[in-house]
This record gives sequence, structure tokens and C-alpha cells, in this order.
Amino acid sequence: MNKWQKEDLKYIWHPCSQMKDYEELPPIVVERAEGINLYDIDGNCYKDVVSSWWCNLLGHCNPGINSAIKHQLDTLEHVIFANFTHKPAIVLCQKLAEVLPKGLCKFNFADNGSAAIEMSMKMSFQYHQQIGNTHKTRFMALSDAYHGETIGALSAGACDLYSAIYKPILMDVVRVSGPDCYRCPYGKTRDNCRCECFEKAEKTFEQYGNETCAMLVEPLLQGSAGMKVYPPLYLTKLRELCNKYNVHLIADEIATGYGRTGKMFAFDWSGVSPDIMCLSKGLTGGYMPMSLCVTTQEIYDAFYADYLSGKAFMHSHTYAGNPLGCSAAVEVLNILKDENIIENAYARSGFFNNMIEKKFLDILNVGEVRHIGLINAIEIVKDRDTKESFNPALRLGYQIYKKALKRGVLLRPLGDVIYFNPPLIICEDDMRYVTDIARDCTIEALNEL
Ligand code: PLP
Repeated sequence: MNKWQKEDLKYIWHPCSQMKDYEELPPIVVERAEGINLYDIDGNCYKDVVSSWWCNLLGHCNPGINSAIKHQLDTLEHVIFANFTHKPAIVLCQKLAEVLPKGLCKFNFADNGSAAIEMSMKMSFQYHQQIGNTHKTRFMALSDAYHGETIGALSAGACDLYSAIYKPILMDVVRVSGPDCYRCPYGKTRDNCRCECFEKAEKTFEQYGNETCAMLVEPLLQGSAGMKVYPPLYLTKLRELCNKYNVHLIADEIATGYGRTGKMFAFDWSGVSPDIMCLSKGLTGGYMPMSLCVTTQEIYDAFYADYLSGKAFMHSHTYAGNPLGCSAAVEVLNILKDENIIENAYARSGFFNNMIEKKFLDILNVGEVRHIGLINAIEIVKDRDTKESFNPALRLGYQIYKKALKRGVLLRPLGDVIYFNPPLIICEDDMRYVTDIARDCTIEALNEL
């Protein structure tokens, strides 16, 4: 352990970590980064194929975003966003309004994904209260959902790893048994299904739709659940069902927005619009902590009244509308457009997916390779026929993670699901390199079980 690692462990409690693991695997002290490469203080390189928790979109130290932030830094670093505004925020909203799904036109700013989710829930609840639907006091969300770590967002989520211990203090969210395409109980595949599993949502809405103000959904990709991919038809049907029961549809595009699924937003695949969309991560290219909760004129109008009516949305975050974040976000939109980033990434996604299927499907313990856009996930199971998982106590994914790190690839599997969610600018050589190493490490770890 070097001196910086010792000092780190003396003071720092790292996120989402069992700190005891750091005795064996101390934190890597990163000094600089460029493109998909991270360099530590000893000069070792690590390929960041998880986009640093899925947020880095256009590579680290992207020259365009760097210079936009530097310019902004010398002009205006931050200002209170109530009663004050600034050009970067206005330009950002102008540009986003052009590319968002139809109807989304009012922008409320926060500073991280969970905060945007909290805001969306409060906004929906207050809307219904103010238009006379006072019986609508609950939320719905899918099984295996992940929406963040604050209490409201955690309540909407359903990944026990993060929420089990907090259950006594969480809100009672109605759970909709959602799609599970790898282990489909209807025996369908993604290609031949008509979302038969949607009948579960219909039954739940029948029972609880009346008392529900909003349904939260991670569109097409349940990331933290293990990069579970499901078809756009599910969203189209969900839109109809929400309309029927006057329930807001909240799209959590925090992980799926900004080209991750091959289109600007995952909802773009469905042909329908949500009532509220939460954005973060790729919004600033992964540079600045910023998030947005975007909604419709109709929802906005339910808050618009004389002050004394008490209808205002009394929700604020100190760093709302931070100009540095906004200027990064404007530059991200410029680069996406000028360099055709999303179209180019989507064009390379077939190559990446074919390569991964070739390299992994002949490993007997690989149950499924699933993909959407440049995101590819490899689920490793004990038995391919029964799809039975390995005992989690074996920490197979973690063994693979450690091996890959030693060889310069940052994978960070979700349980026994290895995945790639690289910056959209990853080149074909890097695709080859990281998949070779991931394959070798997987085989090695399986042989050591
Ligand atoms: N929603 C989804 C789908 C996410 O993937 C995440 C983070 O990974 C969040 C919400 C929470 O965002 P944050 O970590 O910025 O609070």
C-alpha cells in the first residue's frame, strides 16, 4: 500500500463499498485521465469501460467540455437560481427542448440523480393534490427497479442489496412485477414476445391505479438489477395504462439517456412520451453533479397561480442550475450533434455485440449475452440449462473484477453479471482489448471455483 492509499483509508469512507475489502484491494489513486483511460500515480493505465458509474459519455478530459467549463469558470461560477438566471441554463433548456420526447418542456434543476427522482415524486404528488385528486397518495415501480439511494428513491427501488435493511423506514410503494426476459415465465424470447408479462401490470393497476399518483420506470434497461433489457412495447403499453388510470409516467432516464441505448433517450424507441423525465449522468458528460426533472405544460400549469394560493413547488437545491454544469451540458449537446456521436456509436454497437457473443457464448457458464446500444451484459450462471445462479457468497463477479483490474480493465460487475457500458467514443481496438481481458479473467475465475 502506498502512502496515499494509507492516508485515504485513514479518512475516507468510499461509496457502495465494504471498507474491509480495501485491506486486500486498496483504492487506486488516479492522477489523470484521457479518453477511456485512467492513469494512476504509478503510471498504470485502466480502461474505464463502465464510464465511471455510467456517467462519462465522451471520454475523460474531453477538450471541448474542458474548455467550455474553463471559460465559464472565469465568467460566473455559481449564482442563486431563485429569481436569478443565466445564459448557460437558458441555452441548455432551449437545446434540450428540441430533442426531448414530445410534450416535455419545463425544466427543474437538481444536482444528482436521486434528487431528481425525489423531485419527480413530489411534483407528481403535489400536482394531484392541487387538481383535486387527493386520494392519489401512492407510487408504483417495477420489481428489480433502481432509482437511487435517498429515502424516496430507495423506496421506489427494489434491489434488496441497497434497500433491505431500510424497509422499516421506507415508503410503501406498490410493486409491479415487471419484465424478466432472460428468465421469462411465459417461455418467450425478446424477439417473439408481445409483452405477455404486462398482464401483471394490468392487474396491479386494477387494484391500486386509483390511489396512485405516478409510476416510475427505468426505460428498456434495468441497470443496477444486472443490465436487464426489455422491449419498447412494454413502455408503449405502460403509457396507455397510465392514461387509463390517470397515473403519471415518470421516466428515469438517468442511466439510459444520452445515447446509451442507441437513441438519444430510451423512450424514443417506444414512440410515446412520459409525463416527467429525470436526467443526470451523461447530461454533463459525467463532469459535473447536475440533474434535471423535465415535465409538461399541463403539470407546470397546476402549480401556476397567485402566490397566496400556496400552489408553488417549494423545492430547492443550493446548487440548482449551477452554471459550470450547464455550460458542460450545453457543450455535450453541441458535440453529440456536430460529431454525430450517437449515430456513430450505434453503428459500432453491432460489431461490439458480435465480438462479445463470439468470445463469451462458448463459455459454458455464460447464460446470456444481452445488449442495447453499446451496453453489453454477460450473465454468468452455475447451470446454463436451469439458469441457476452461483452462490453469491462465492463473489464470482468480484473475483473477475480483481483479475481484470490487475490487467488494466475496470469492469465492476453487478453480482455475477459482467458488463460493458463504455463512453460512446470507445474505438474498435479498445473493444477488442477489453473483451479479450474480460474473457480470460472470466475463464480463470471460473476455473478457480
Ligand atoms: N436512477 C438510475 C436508473 C440510476 O442508474 C442511478 C444511478 O446509478 C440513479 C437513479 C441515482 O443517481 P445518483 O447516483 O446520481 O443519485
